[in-house]
Amino acid sequence: MQSYKMFVGGKWFGNNLEQIDVINPATNEQIGTIPNGGKEEAKQAVDAAHNALKEWSARTAEDRSNYLVKWHELIKEERETIAKIMTEEQGKPLKEAIGEVDYANGFISWYAEEGKRIYGDIIPASHTNKRIFVQKKPVGVVAAITPWNFPAAMITRKVGPALAVGCTVVIKPATQTPLTAFKLVELAEKAGIPRGVINIVTGSSSQIGKVWNDDGRVRKLTFTGSTEVGKILMKDAANTMKKISLELGGHAPFVVMEDADLDKAVAGVIASKFRNAGQTCVCTNRVYVHESIKDIFQDKLTEAVSKLKVGNGLEEGINIGPLIDQSAVDKVDEQVKDAISKGGRVTFGGKSLRGLYVEPTIVVDATDDMLCMYEETFGPLVPVTTFRDEEEVIARANNSPYGLAAYVFTENIGRAIRISEALEYGIVGLNDGAPSTPQAPFGGFKESGLGREGGYYGIEEFLEIKYISLAF
Ligand code: ADP
Repeated sequence: MQSYKMFVGGKWFGNNLEQIDVINPATNEQIGTIPNGGKEEAKQAVDAAHNALKEWSARTAEDRSNYLVKWHELIKEERETIAKIMTEEQGKPLKEAIGEVDYANGFISWYAEEGKRIYGDIIPASHTNKRIFVQKKPVGVVAAITPWNFPAAMITRKVGPALAVGCTVVIKPATQTPLTAFKLVELAEKAGIPRGVINIVTGSSSQIGKVWNDDGRVRKLTFTGSTEVGKILMKDAANTMKKISLELGGHAPFVVMEDADLDKAVAGVIASKFRNAGQTCVCTNRVYVHESIKDIFQDKLTEAVSKLKVGNGLEEGINIGPLIDQSAVDKVDEQVKDAISKGGRVTFGGKSLRGLYVEPTIVVDATDDMLCMYEETFGPLVPVTTFRDEEEVIARANNSPYGLAAYVFTENIGRAIRISEALEYGIVGLNDGAPSTPQAPFGGFKESGLGREGGYYGIEEFLEIKYISLAF
């Protein structure tokens, strides 16, 4: 078993600090320890990132891009090693973990290219002796705080664009899944990315987050996690007026119209609900099926769900791994019990198994007052309810403080456009249960967050606009 170290200013350190255990959720075995860093280490990381900023930001975009390309190649070479580390600390099936490594690496290659296209403007002036120039500049030191459900992609989606435009970063990965993050940083070092450009510390989230937020040298905070913590960070970021991006919770509706291709719709629910055992912020949380096709849809869904295999993600053929911890299991149990007490009927699953495993579960006859219909589940439970017409389903789908992802299945083009445009969500999967991809904007409306990651929208978050007015 290994004691892992933090990486600040090009040095690996932290063995002398108190250690935190990293546990495999599939077996409850300890797989490593990480340093319990705090205020001091958080400050050292900012010192290092700040020292490296001038030199890194002064390089050409092409030069920085070459480092990212090298990093991308090294990750590609070690994709299976990284995926295995991820499955061991996070629980997702190995095949999904490999998929995440490729997805994560896609952000690095995409931004290695996009970093070369940070164009400015020349605007016609109001005087013949003046010129108006607009440039885009790296915002400065970036603090990235990431969650455990996508231990690789949530890092590269932030660090890729930040580095590409000339920012330096300090990273705090989730305490449950730091080993994937350490591996990525190790490969960044191997790629020759200069010291201080990437720094990573582990330990007390609240202490590290506070130090970074209070430090005026950190000009940007990018966070993925719960809405609750996002609100704390947003308040704290106000003190130094940082630029912020927040990717927070969601409660995705999945709408199946009467003209939908039901096989496609069922495959969409499986992809959007059961990936990562239901632990993604874009996971389907509630299914609305038109009342005229309820029985046939529910039968098909039950059949598809009955084929999902639960178990240790390192084993062959597993679709659903363990949940991240006991409180995640308890939350699903509570929602299932609550749904049953309010008239819900379980057509498949319904139980937590040994350890942190939970059966994929379908509850039909769901009603809007059930906890699972408005509280984020983050587990493999899918409630199904019915509706009569478009107007009703749009109103019910939008009745949420969240606005991250929504899904609509219909074969009618007019209806597809009407409904997808009426949904108050940042991402709409139209006959698509897996819309996330590096070149598209990912982010939410309402309490699901601020800003976008991915695509050229995601790079703007790391840039400041500078206007130079020239008079002659
Ligand atoms: P999740 O439900 O995904 O665990 P959290 O918002 O609790 O969501 O965690 C996401 C990330 O935020 C993790 O890296 C976690 O350690 C960190 N975090 C949690 N609380 C705080 C805090 N008060 N300040 C800064 N970071 C925090």
